[in-house]
Amino acid sequence: MLQLSKFPVKTLKSAPKISDNISTSHLLQAGFIRQEMAGAYNYLPLWLKVLRKIENIVREEMNAIWAQEILMSALWSREHWMETGRWDVVDVLFKLPAAEWKEYALNPTHEELVTPLMKEFIQSYKDLEFWVYQIQNKFRNEKRAKSWLLRGREFLMKDLYSFHTSEEKLLQYYENVKIAYRKVYDRLWIGKDTYETISWGGDFTTLNSHEYQTVLSIGEDNIYICQDCWVSHNEELINLETWFVCQKCGSKNHKIYKASEVGNIFPLMTKFTDAFDVKYTDADGKTNMVYMGCYGIGISRLMWVIAEYFSDEKWLVWPENIAPVTHYIIVMWENFDTAKKLAELLEKEGKEVIIDDREKVWFWQKASDADLLWIPYRIVVSDKTLESGWYELKQRLSQETQIISLDK
Ligand SMILES: [Zn+2]
Repeated sequence: MLQLSKFPVKTLKSAPKISDNISTSHLLQAGFIRQEMAGAYNYLPLWLKVLRKIENIVREEMNAIWAQEILMSALWSREHWMETGRWDVVDVLFKLPAAEWKEYALNPTHEELVTPLMKEFIQSYKDLEFWVYQIQNKFRNEKRAKSWLLRGREFLMKDLYSFHTSEEKLLQYYENVKIAYRKVYDRLWIGKDTYETISWGGDFTTLNSHEYQTVLSIGEDNIYICQDCWVSHNEELINLETWFVCQKCGSKNHKIYKASEVGNIFPLMTKFTDAFDVKYTDADGKTNMVYMGCYGIGISRLMWVIAEYFSDEKWLVWPENIAPVTHYIIVMWENFDTAKKLAELLEKEGKEVIIDDREKVWFWQKASDADLLWIPYRIVVSDKTLESGWYELKQRLSQETQIISLDK
């Protein structure tokens, strides 16, 4: 349990004015974050709790499609980036001079690392297929980072890489990832406004890639949604000279929405296995190229999209399953021991609890902090409630309070 009397962070009396979005001012006021510089933020304890919950939902869905979690080095050598020719091409690559005239990259993505890493384990068709992922900070040397974290210089990312014997196998798994991503967004309550969006596949494949785009009024992308089959298209696929034509059903009937990207999946085919010469021997003894896919979810970005999505003028209205904790216990006067016992009981039931045991803080101040943090359940333990042998329980969205007997 978390005791506010021992907690370093305080809320602000009013919300700082942030020009481009409402959620950042809520998050600053609630003491969830502090900005370090444009594109880099410090995550304070309650925001970190939210992050871990989102991360775990993503992790559970990746494990469910057989992926193994690994953790790769954030630094990687210039030589490996030269092998794919991307050292001079990826313009957001952070390049670090190091000892003995060496140079390193702070990775914005890990294809250059995971491909040679996994090559060791691939000889025959019996070694395939497999899937690895990691959740790690990534770096992009953005010239103009946004004031909030949609375009960060440092961000947390889940990146999954799959290795297959054929294009057909790759595309089968690609469909599994689509289902897993759908589950992630549904569990985070943004599923109904998050569209699988057809995007350009890159110059090395004729296949499309897919982005997941959440409709958001301050979104940085435009998506074109077919009004007949509801397939969404990335702007770069639309030929503005001609007209919108749905790639699935051929309809021209469409609407344009502002949206923010919360994931992408990419059939890499043999782009990276060619570069690192990753082959396997099939059942007939023939040598073939290994096929790869990569699948990203920017977890810190996703968290900000969720915060913005659930913000209104006044509050950040969390979905209950990712709120920092489930219960906020307001203790008045000398009733800490009773509140602590109650918190222990709740924790045994799998709930998470903040006890507001701050001294010389008025009830209304505590109640307003509980509201500000949007904790789903608020409990009051005071002399008045205890005299009658009960505490008071209020659900965040309800005006009514419930009386719970302590001996229950
Ligand atoms: Zn259509």
